[in-house]
Amino acid sequence: MHTLPSTLARHVLEAAPDAMLLVDAAGMVRHANGQVSVLFGYTYEEIVGQRVEALLPERFRARHQAHRRHFHDNVRVRPMGAGLELFGRRRDGSEFPVEISLSPIAENGQLLVAAAIRDITEHKRVEAELIEARRAADAAREAADRASQGKSRFLATASHDLRQPLQTLALLNGALRRRLGSAVAGEVLAQQEQSIGAMSRLLNALLDISKLESGAIQPEPADFTVATLFEELRHEFATSAAAKGLKFDIEPCNDRAHCDPALVGQILRNLVSNAIKYTREGWVRLRCLHEGALIRIEVLDTGIGIPAGQLPHIYEEFFQVTEPSSRARDGYGLGLTIVQRLVRLLDLTLDVHSEVGRGSSFSFQLPAGAAQRVPQPVSATHAPAGSVRHDRARVLLVEDEPAVRDATRMLLEVEEYHVTAVGSLGEALQAARDAGSVDVLITDYHLRGESGLEVIGALRRVLGSSLRAVLMTGDTSSAVKGLPADLNLRVLSKPVDAEVLLQLLDTLLASSAAEAAHTHAAGRGAAHSLAIVSAPGSRR
Ligand code: ADP
Repeated sequence: MHTLPSTLARHVLEAAPDAMLLVDAAGMVRHANGQVSVLFGYTYEEIVGQRVEALLPERFRARHQAHRRHFHDNVRVRPMGAGLELFGRRRDGSEFPVEISLSPIAENGQLLVAAAIRDITEHKRVEAELIEARRAADAAREAADRASQGKSRFLATASHDLRQPLQTLALLNGALRRRLGSAVAGEVLAQQEQSIGAMSRLLNALLDISKLESGAIQPEPADFTVATLFEELRHEFATSAAAKGLKFDIEPCNDRAHCDPALVGQILRNLVSNAIKYTREGWVRLRCLHEGALIRIEVLDTGIGIPAGQLPHIYEEFFQVTEPSSRARDGYGLGLTIVQRLVRLLDLTLDVHSEVGRGSSFSFQLPAGAAQRVPQPVSATHAPAGSVRHDRARVLLVEDEPAVRDATRMLLEVEEYHVTAVGSLGEALQAARDAGSVDVLITDYHLRGESGLEVIGALRRVLGSSLRAVLMTGDTSSAVKGLPADLNLRVLSKPVDAEVLLQLLDTLLASSAAEAAHTHAAGRGAAHSLAIVSAPGSRR
């Protein structure tokens, strides 16, 4: 005898949004609501009294019987076939994906199973679309990443490979300028020098961007004295500010900040360089303000200002408010792009205020650093060597790029230095032994197989610890990390400007104890406070 659900139960089953079946222990359908007919295409009469397996694709029927028996032995509410893909079969033989939940019901002393069946075709379609969309997005992102990595690699390689010939050209140009007497030739070379300078600046900016894009630059936060950084900037920019008749005003600052000093320096170099570039008269000011636990560093100018409408665009690559007219451009619209990337890398916020005709201010806040340690006295081994006249000076040059080596040698020989030029530490040691004494060592930082610091260390062990040395590097921040304050060492940023190199050698060789002590006072306590010299207008 068939056991039918009560009237109330039937009403409940009819109201359910899912197809509902009542199935007995033998697998016979005892009741089906209207949704079953809608879903499977059978009338009530056709389905009731049939085995429930009639609603399944044939390939699942045998297995389903076994599952059904198992369910009756372990009765509880649960979804059916958890983790499996379930399918229903319509009267016309077509299949569709379903979700089924099972609940035991006791009816008139018999155990029935209520099965709620939901057609999940739409759900599956949306899910498949989502998976496809996600896959497409992943593929697009991977393609974009690959393209971006490819672009960065291309930029890095191209910039790096351009650097050597450009450096050679700059040095040769410097040498030639000093050889030629004629005014016309001098003018040609001066123009050429301007173009080389412009190319170098672009190359530097591209290299900076590619390094930042590739993630090669990782911040190394440390406590540092803001005034020391300001002093470096004074050294670097005093001449170019004075050449434009601008006052370069650096306010006293006793604060210490906690951040990566080399990267903060790179931000400030770009901002100060812009302030000088875009100011016709008045002043450029650097100052720091204590704001609670933070130190605000500001670069202010009385320059041409930036129209409010243009402010949102100044960080875009190659954006310039006005097109430069000069042939030897001193800007490419990359400085603030670099600043913005550095600011993001250091997790800082750049604040900009500008008024056309009145000036601009660029500022950011740094966490304050711990109070300063007592500076160490100058070590006796680093005392400055006695002064040497440069026209008799013996220079040992260590550079592994033959073209750059030859060009540097030629430049120095024009100035009557006695130059021994070699390509490695081994050759340098041999040359030092042969020569017996050397007045100044000039070495590249990145040599094949060894670093310029190793070269300096090894030669000082042979020639004495007060050997004057110049370290030339395109990567100032890593080169100076860990360097002790050293009166007889100068770090020269690449690309090396012929005039700057010659001037530096002059002062290094002529340096008296008093002058050296002054340099040291400005820079003691922090490794990066070594006298770092870069070409005027260089952004490194
Ligand atoms: P550029 O290399 O041309 O200086 P930047 O990316 O450094 O490029 O700056 C983008 C533009 O923002 C500049 O071309 C200039 O028009 C404007 N700008 C930047 N700094 C200043 C400033 N201190 N005063 C006026 N304009 C500025």
